Parts: sequence; C-alpha cells; structure tokens
Amino acid sequence: MLNVETNAEIGNRYDQWAEQVLAGEPISRENALEILRSPDEDVLALLAAGFRIRRKHFGKTVQLYFLMSAKSGLCPEDCHYCSQSKISTAPVPKHNILKRDDLMDAARMASERGAKTYCLVISARGPNEREMAAVETIVPEIKQKYGLDICACLGLLSREQADRLKACGVDRVNHNLNTSEDHYAEICTTHTYADRVQTLRHVRDAGMEMCSGGIIGMGEKHEDVVSMAFDLQELGVQSIPLNFLNAIEGTPMQGNADLSPQDCLRALAMFRFVNPTRELRISGGREIHLRSLQPLGLYVANSLFVGDYLTTKGQAPQADYDMIADLGFDITTKMGE
Ligand code: SF4
Repeated sequence: MLNVETNAEIGNRYDQWAEQVLAGEPISRENALEILRSPDEDVLALLAAGFRIRRKHFGKTVQLYFLMSAKSGLCPEDCHYCSQSKISTAPVPKHNILKRDDLMDAARMASERGAKTYCLVISARGPNEREMAAVETIVPEIKQKYGLDICACLGLLSREQADRLKACGVDRVNHNLNTSEDHYAEICTTHTYADRVQTLRHVRDAGMEMCSGGIIGMGEKHEDVVSMAFDLQELGVQSIPLNFLNAIEGTPMQGNADLSPQDCLRALAMFRFVNPTRELRISGGREIHLRSLQPLGLYVANSLFVGDYLTTKGQAPQADYDMIADLGFDITTKMGE
C-alpha cells in the first residue's frame, strides 16, 4: 500500500517546526531544505505555519519601501544579473548622481505613497567622494522635511564611509549577499562574497541597521538558498529583501529564471522560518514570478516595495494598497513596528 501523508500530517509537520521556532529554537538546515523541496500541494500548509511566526513578530502589518535610483548605469562591476553592469547591453538610463531637487521630489513621492523608508540607491562598486558628499547633504534634509527613514545602497563601503553615513543620519544600509558563498563566482567576478560580508560588518560596527537579501533563480541549488538564509541570520541583518530574478534582456542571465509562483512562496516561507524576527520583503520580480499569487507571499513576508524597481516597472501602487486591504492587513508607519 502506498504511504501517502494525509493533509493533517503534512500540516502537523510544518506546525511543529513553527512551534519550535516560536519557542526560540531555530530550524535545522535539513528542514529548511525540506521546505524548498516540498511539493506544490504542501504550499498552503507551509504558509499557514509560517503565518503563525509572522503574526507573532509583525502582526498583520506591511511596511512599504520606496526605491530611488539616484545614479543609474555606468557601473564598473560585472554582476551578471544586473542591467547596470559594465557587461550589460540592456538599454537602461545612464546618469550620475541626481541633483538635490530630483532627490527631494522623489522623497515627497515616497511620503505621499505611504512609504516609511526611502531607499537611496546608486550603481557603483562603492561611493566616490562626490557621491558621499551628496548623500551627506541630502539625508538630513529629507529626514527633516518628510520624516522618512533612510536606507542607503551605495555599494562596498569602508569603515570610515560607514561612520560618515551614520553621522549624517542614515538609518540603514542595503548591501545584498545575493546568493551563497559557493555560488558567488558564478554571478560576479569583480568582487567577492567576502567583500560583501565585510561591508555589512562595517555597517553593523558603525551602528546602523543592515538590510541584505538575495536573488532566487540564478542557477543556484536549493543548498545555496538555504546557505544564504542562514548566513543572513548569523550576520544579524534586520531586513531581508528577497528578489526573484527578472532575467533582463542584454544581461548574461537573460531568459534564465525558471521559477514557479510556488517556488517563490517556498523560498519566502523558508526565509521566514530561518529568520523569524527579521523583516522580510518581497522584492524585485514579484509581479513576474508570483503573478496572481502575490498576496499569498504576504502571509510570511511583511514588507514590499511600492512603485517601480531600479530599472524595471513595478505594479501600480494602488494595486498594492488594494491587495493589502483585501488581505485585511495594515500598512505600518514606523520602521520596525
Ligand atoms: S555593483 Fe550594483 S549596480 Fe554595479 S553591477 Fe553589481 S548590482 Fe549592478
């Protein structure tokens, strides 16, 4: 006779893992791998168990972020997934860091859209002096006028640069690990995984929060995704953006992402189990890969970008507000609330 698990048995297994996590005991790497390898029929049970963890730490709140591409294209790095890299032929806007008025206009828009955090992003290996000075000037002005939290994404940072960002009022720095240490050389050759970890340590030591996540769908194995989730947990990052590869034409990864909506949901659930207390953001590629199942992702994730991504379009903000309202969830107004 076939040994087929009943729905109750499947639900019990994920519920037991949720109990364990809620009791403060982390799940094992083996269980995290099992989540990624679970069949599509388990996804609802998995999300229901993951929702218990999300509800304990974040209730039914959703925090919105607003991305601003302050400098676009012209990057000397070769990240294979990125349309702004030196090896990409994708037709992206190319400009140096925007002027004060443009950055302030974007801050106003972020505020009007209900975002609590303004993510100021430049395409670069790391910031040059002019870019550092521009950030140091604009950050206090944005905070004073709009009361937004600021997350800066400026590439690799020295400790001294991290100290300067902290001093001018930056709350958080984004620097994604993107994938596992083992898989890193497959996605970039101009800097290393260790370089990225070092920047995160500088951010942490300077007293700012760390935002760091990854991209699923870049030819990695399930083990790589689990390894990244545990590395982020061990580094103590406060905020985890999880992207799903938008395989942009003109990048080495064009046409590469083979992800189903269920793959994305399993990955989000695994990150919630491994990082129970950390903010988890459904990020780039959600509209393409989760499609009509986007709302289900919010049962384990608690954050979204509202509006467009760096070089690609997101769905209209109203569609996100409607989705959040239909779920019976609320938009948060304070970082960490
Ligand atoms: S460093 Fe950033 S902007 Fe530059 S290629 Fe890599 S991901 Fe793109």
